[in-house]
Amino acid sequence: MDGVDKKEKKKVNKIYGLKLKLIRLATIPLCVLGVVIMVFTYYQAYETITAEIENNLRNIAVSAIYSYDGIYDKDYEFVQEDGRKYLLYNGSSVEQNTEYLDYLKADSGLDITLYYYDIALLTTITDKNGNRMSGTVANKTIAQEVIIDGHSMFYDNACIEDIEFYAYYSPIVRDNGECVGMIFVGKPTGEVKHNIIMNIAPVLVITLIAMLLVSFVSVSEAKKLASVINKEKDFLGEISKGNLRATLDPSILTRKDELGEMGQFTIMVQKFIRDMIERDPLTKLYTRRIGDAKLRYTRQEYIESGVPFCIAMADIDYFKKFNDTYGHDCGDLVLKSVADILINSLYGHGYAVRWGGEEFIIVLENTTLDEGVKLLNEIKDLVCKSCVFYDELRLSITMTFGITEGSEDSIHELLKEVDTLLYQGKENGRNQIVVKKG
Ligand code: GH3
Ligand code: MG
Ligand code: MG
Repeated sequence: MDGVDKKEKKKVNKIYGLKLKLIRLATIPLCVLGVVIMVFTYYQAYETITAEIENNLRNIAVSAIYSYDGIYDKDYEFVQEDGRKYLLYNGSSVEQNTEYLDYLKADSGLDITLYYYDIALLTTITDKNGNRMSGTVANKTIAQEVIIDGHSMFYDNACIEDIEFYAYYSPIVRDNGECVGMIFVGKPTGEVKHNIIMNIAPVLVITLIAMLLVSFVSVSEAKKLASVINKEKDFLGEISKGNLRATLDPSILTRKDELGEMGQFTIMVQKFIRDMIERDPLTKLYTRRIGDAKLRYTRQEYIESGVPFCIAMADIDYFKKFNDTYGHDCGDLVLKSVADILINSLYGHGYAVRWGGEEFIIVLENTTLDEGVKLLNEIKDLVCKSCVFYDELRLSITMTFGITEGSEDSIHELLKEVDTLLYQGKENGRNQIVVKKG
């Protein structure tokens, strides 16, 4: 029991395995593409916005320095009083004049700090209580690069009192070239990142929606494909189990792709195997074994639904003569020609079985005795008039038939009956149809 369960489980896994693989195939590259687009968009936006901010910070820093030079036409100087140091412009302490920096902040939204050397003298940055955070000391590396080396610098992670800033520092230089401090213009990193996210949010949302839509379409297509492949697999499975009557979903056969072709090839293989097993290789008529089974089925239908049928036995007259006179090949040719006439004439009316050497059983489905006799007459005439040539010799073929109406009698009895009728026909001179008298 356990073994059977395991087998079932394995089978289910196999069936869904392909579906899962196809779904993965359809979605994973899409997800990777989506992530790549998002990361790329983020970094692109980050680079652009960072460059823009650097530019902005530089402009404000430069204009602040120019403005100070404009406001105060004298040089910077600094004094020491009561142990404190002041940076003076035009004799007044810069420390006292926050108005201009506040104006710049209000205008640009940026924080600005004036440093005397590395000490913040004047700043727009406030602590939690709203007090200006002057008196703080600049980072050593920044002080070195800006004040000592005299370079204007941009940093994307300058930390001022635990707050990260995008920061631009420019040295403040006296007329004699001495650097006396620096100006800082900055924007909190958090704000910038928020800006970046707000900028790329529409792109991300559209990418996500597109990914979802494409995934939905891909997954449903993958499911359809897996379902077709599974149907073909099931069909092949049935054939491998010997079920040569198994059918394949017709919608697969109308597909204009490789799967449709595969379905058609499989049907052809099924038909080929079925013909090989069920049909006589020379005449292509049903073999006796299959004919017998089909006859049982026809009789059963008659018993269950009352669908009338006729059964006939047919035999080629003096067939041995063809063999004896012209050889076995000629006999085969005659057999084949008669079988072709039977197949064509019975299409849509019933089927013929090669019962013995040159003896056939003809079953006429959904046919009354009168209709059956009419059809046999047509077949008899076609055989008589058939143009079969062997070594440029036209062969003259005739057949004798015995026919009866199907009944609840056993197959054996019905066959015996038509055999007797056929015998009577032979006795009466052949080339005739003997009908069971009612
Ligand atoms: P009747 O009119 O009484 O039916 O005479 P007949 O000669 O047709 O009948 P008979 O039973 O005497 O001969 C049938 C012959 O058919 C005997 C056999 O060798 C031949 N035969 C059976 N199967 C084949 C076959 O597949 N190919 C060929 N060429 N001959 C076959
Ligand atoms: Mg014969
Ligand atoms: Mg015979």
